[in-house]
Formats: sequence, C-alpha cells, structure tokens
Amino acid sequence: MRQETKCIQAGYEPKNGESRMIPIVQSTTFKYDSSEEMGKLFDLEASGYFYTRLQNPTNDYVAAKIAALEGGTAAIMTSSGQAASFYSVFNLAGVGDHVISSASIYGGTYNLFAVTMRRMGIEFTFVDPDCSDEELEAAFRDNTKAVFGETIANPALTVFDIERFAKAAHAHGVPLIVDNTFATPINCRPIEWGADIVTHSTTKYMDGHDATVGGVIVDSGRFDWMAHADKFPGLTTPDESYHGITYAERFGKEGAYITKATAQLMRDLGSIPSPMNCYLLNLGLESLAVRMERHCANAQKVAEFLEGHEKVVWVNYPGLPGNKYYERAKKYLPNGSCGVISFGVRGGRKAAEEFMRHLKVAMIATHVADAHTCVLHPASSTHRQMSDEELLAAGVGPDLIRLSVGIEHVDDILEDLTQALAAI
Ligand SMILES: *Cc1c(COP(=O)(O)O)cnc(C)c1O
Repeated sequence: MRQETKCIQAGYEPKNGESRMIPIVQSTTFKYDSSEEMGKLFDLEASGYFYTRLQNPTNDYVAAKIAALEGGTAAIMTSSGQAASFYSVFNLAGVGDHVISSASIYGGTYNLFAVTMRRMGIEFTFVDPDCSDEELEAAFRDNTKAVFGETIANPALTVFDIERFAKAAHAHGVPLIVDNTFATPINCRPIEWGADIVTHSTTKYMDGHDATVGGVIVDSGRFDWMAHADKFPGLTTPDESYHGITYAERFGKEGAYITKATAQLMRDLGSIPSPMNCYLLNLGLESLAVRMERHCANAQKVAEFLEGHEKVVWVNYPGLPGNKYYERAKKYLPNGSCGVISFGVRGGRKAAEEFMRHLKVAMIATHVADAHTCVLHPASSTHRQMSDEELLAAGVGPDLIRLSVGIEHVDDILEDLTQALAAI
C-alpha cells in the first residue's frame, strides 16, 4: 500500500460482518475464563488484553497504522507528545547515562531533557544540528545511550541531517531517535534514512483538528540491542519485575523496545491515551495525506508572499530557494516540508504583537500544525522559560512569529496577512 492508502486502511482489517471503522473499546478491563489464561498474559507468554493501562485494542489499531506509515515494526500510543519523548529516551537511559540531543528542538522537549530528566540523573549534551563532524564526535561519551533530533524543528524549522546523525550514532553503537511531528510520515520517513526510533506529538498534523492531545513511539525494529548488550542492560539482561524475561531475546529486534516500553514504562508510569482519543486521532489520520499536500501548497504561497512584503524583515521556510535548509529539505522532504513558517516584522517585538492583534482569519493560539491557521510569539509563550542565549541556540529569536498555515482557502489567509501588515 502507498502512504495515502495506509492512512485509510492500515492497522485494522475488519472480518466478515465486523464494523468498518475501528471499534472504540472503551473498557478498562477484559474478561477471561480462567486464572491460568490471565497469568500467561501477565508473564508475557501469550499476547492479549487484560488492562487498558498496558494495552487496548483501539489504541493498538492506531499504533499499527502509524507503524505502517513510518515503516516500523511496532508502536505504542502515549497520552501526549511529551510522554512519547520521555519514554523514547527513558526506555534506554537511566541514572548515570548520557544522551546527545540536537539543540534545535521543541521547547517542551528541551525543558524535559535539560531540567526534568537531568534531575532524574541523565546528562544531556545539546549540539548544534549543523555542527562539524569533530564537534559531534566530541559529544559522545562511554555512557552515551542515544542521539535525539527533530526532522523539522518546532519552531526553528531547522531541517535535521538524519542520515549524518544516524551514521554517527551507529558508529558509537547507539540508536538515533527522531521526532517526526512536523514532517509527518507523508513528507519524511526517518527510518528510511537510518533513524531507529521515531516519535510524534500526534496532537499536531496527525490529529490535525485541534481535537486530541497524544503521542506515539515507533520502532524501526532494526537496532541490534544484543550487539551492544553492555550498553542496554534493560533490554539485554533479565527483567526481574517480569519473571526474568530478557526483552531482546524473547521479542527480537522487531519487538523488544516497544514491549519493554509497554511492560515497564506504561505499567509503572501509565501515560496511556483513552481509546476514545485514539479513535478521534484515527479520523485525523485518514485525511493526513491530503491535508499535508494542502498545508504545504498554502504555506509555500504564504512564504513567498511574506518574502516579497516590505514590512517583513525575514522569512524562514525550508521551501524558499534562499533558505539555509532548502537543499537539505529537497533531499529529506521532496514533496514539501510542513505548513509552519516563521518570520519577523519590521519593528521587532512590539510590531509583532500589534500585527498579531489585527489578524482575523489567523488565530492566536498555543498550537501549530492543524487545519486552522494560527499564530504564536514563542518568546513570550512556549519558550518563555528559556534565556536569550538558549533561545538563540534553539534558533528562536525574540522577534520570531510562528505562523501555522492551515487548509483554508489560501486567498483568505493572504488577505488577512495583507490587512494586518497594513495596520502596523
Ligand atoms: C507539540 C510537540 C511536542 C509535545 O507534544 P504534546 O502532544 O504537546 O505533548 C513534541 N515535539 C514536537 C515537535 C512538538 O511540536
């Protein structure tokens, strides 16, 4: 199946007489005829459902669809993108471990890594995604357990050189984790470029309608944990909390990582989405391919319009020929990048705020990447906990306006921008 078809059909195959849409199994528990049968599930000897905190059929249908879209072997749904980012790393690293991350990532992920996970005893080194090979090499330590980056950084719109970072990670025997939220598997499949694990905030384009907060982690099934057994004891030595199961032995490369995330992290931390939310997410996924096409077409026109406007100082969109990432975007995102543009208006922070006040079609919202066109000033909202130096390192200047171009008629968006720019 092609991506467009997978959006509609992957993950769920109704049998004769079954519901055409995925069923919403809004149940916490599942009934069994005997204790022995249930015991097998608890021992991970048989697969099946017993408690929705660990697994639920509705959630699994959606996970299977996203795994198919990303070209992975297994996936787990989480209650938010933040939970996906946290689990993706915490499934591999603990106290005393070290992780390398691109400095150009979502503000919430930066805070999760630099503050909260550091407090849990995991050290992070943030590298410029365009750093030299020597700088990247120097970031690795003996206790490094993973490398993390974002395909298209929110909101810096840095295009991550996935292939290069994958090679560096693999040379040091660790996996590359890529947050593919902005590109979506319609525009980029990081696994094809060497990424081992892919995460998403499904809250963005995947849901696409401002309806549900959620996340997902997809495993490529390619990383050989056993070949680097000393680095990943959590996957390669017996788990005493699961009767001595060794995940990498029992579930192989294809299933070990996601099974461990389910059996340990979901069991103990419980960031599970509700089946109803996964159902709503699935509705969004069905139109993902057509929506991404429109988002990219609209954003391209809006970016070109802004670039030619006298009151606009700079425009950042990977689809503009003058953009720093134009060539790299052509490699990784040949069909378009995303609907998000950033730019600065003449007059700095004050002019930016006034411009935003005059907008009518574009709404001010702490959100991006959905059907509605919306705008945000990150320095005064999502990124406000960062210092000026940290903001600049993350590629987010104080004058930056983030415009998320929706799928309305592009002329309505252009007219709105025209009148708001005229008003300042
Ligand atoms: C929004 C976002 C997140 C966090 O996701 P939530 O669903 O809001 O928890 C992580 N990564 C990226 C790139 C995002 O845009």
